[in-house]
Amino acid sequence: MATQESKTRLLVTGARLATLGDEPRLIEDGSVLVEGERIADLGATAELTARYPAVERWDAAGQLVLPASICAHTHFYGAFARGMAIPGEPPTNFPQILERLWWRLDQALTVEDVRYSALVCLVDAVRHGTTTLIDHHASPNAIGGSLDVIARAVEEAGLRASLCYEVTDRDGPERARAGIAENVRFAKAQGPESGSRMAASFGLHASLTLSDETLADCVAAGRDLGLGFHVHVAEDRADQEDSQHKCGKRVVHRLRDAGVLGPRTIAVHCVHVDESEVAALAETNTWVTHQPRSNMNNGVGVAPVEAMLRAGVSVGLGNDGYSNQMFAEMKAAYLVHKLARRDPQAMPGDVVMQMAYASNARLARVFWPEVTLGELCPGASADMVFLDYHPTTPLTAGNLPWHLIFGVEASAVTATVCAGRILMRDRQLLTLDEEAITARSRELAAGVWERVTGA
Ligand SMILES: [Zn+2]
Repeated sequence: MATQESKTRLLVTGARLATLGDEPRLIEDGSVLVEGERIADLGATAELTARYPAVERWDAAGQLVLPASICAHTHFYGAFARGMAIPGEPPTNFPQILERLWWRLDQALTVEDVRYSALVCLVDAVRHGTTTLIDHHASPNAIGGSLDVIARAVEEAGLRASLCYEVTDRDGPERARAGIAENVRFAKAQGPESGSRMAASFGLHASLTLSDETLADCVAAGRDLGLGFHVHVAEDRADQEDSQHKCGKRVVHRLRDAGVLGPRTIAVHCVHVDESEVAALAETNTWVTHQPRSNMNNGVGVAPVEAMLRAGVSVGLGNDGYSNQMFAEMKAAYLVHKLARRDPQAMPGDVVMQMAYASNARLARVFWPEVTLGELCPGASADMVFLDYHPTTPLTAGNLPWHLIFGVEASAVTATVCAGRILMRDRQLLTLDEEAITARSRELAAGVWERVTGA
């Protein structure tokens, strides 16, 4: 452990601070004292500069400073899909999207592709102030060690991530076993040491690609390590139809009976869940994550998020591999429920805000129990984003959600800090070489496209 004296101290001054947390405050001309990885003090700039006269300063020049964003579900492996033509007839439904796009893409990935696909997403995360990401990985022809490759990229970036490998039967029994082994190997390597920014869960693709036998093997392996599961649940009706056909149960009941659900497990999407399944998610304290941009793109439906919240289910906000600009995901969440229900009162801005910050921060505690995220307060991790946002209407702690939804654009992000380390300052990335990553990624993606399309 570093001693008090040896910790780097930095005083961010002149910020418009939005603290969030249980008692959110908006401090005009505020300051944050960062000490090592954590926030040691915060308040008015005049007070803090008097209290800490010798500490190095960083003038935020009136920018809006918020806790950094958290993404509850993403896929670093999907970055090379951007702009790729899907070979053959355009898919007409979700299973075809999986078969024709994602399963061809993931099969084409080499170890180096896995690394650069992750780096591309990590550049995007730093650029948009998202410092904590919960990833779900697939690369069936490069399974063993793939999570280490991603972990190294995350460490280089200076971000924080929970990783897993998605086990599935779709690539045969050998690869299903290799997927289980990769989850186990990576989770064991994480160890219990505190302060790590890397964490593990046990990845499962989805009920529709898992046999009872493989599911049982995963549960046995995951349970031995005390891991929760990270699994797509009822994203499309096809998942329910498959589960009914396979075992005469709905997906959530199948997963509950198999031992998958619980307070450390993430059930991704839950678009097609009925009341009994919502009750089961609530009873087991299973996490649900909502990814509206992905749901809209796949045309799978709108998750009953407000019904789940009313039933006591904890719902976080992910991006399913879309841009790591969580403000964009918040906007989509705010809009889609209103349209789907033809009700302008559906999904209020403060509920979106709760999902994106408070809920995602509680979910992050599953992986980093000693770290406070999603709010700026003494003791919290110094994870911050600076927004060059100067509103033309009054901004308060109370109306902040609507400013984020209607006012803030990706281009406003100028600085990103994770655990006290500055990853981007004045829009300059300090840990990753964006130009080199972009150049190599473009070469590698072209190769992946060739393998996918057979061109
Ligand atoms: Zn997903």
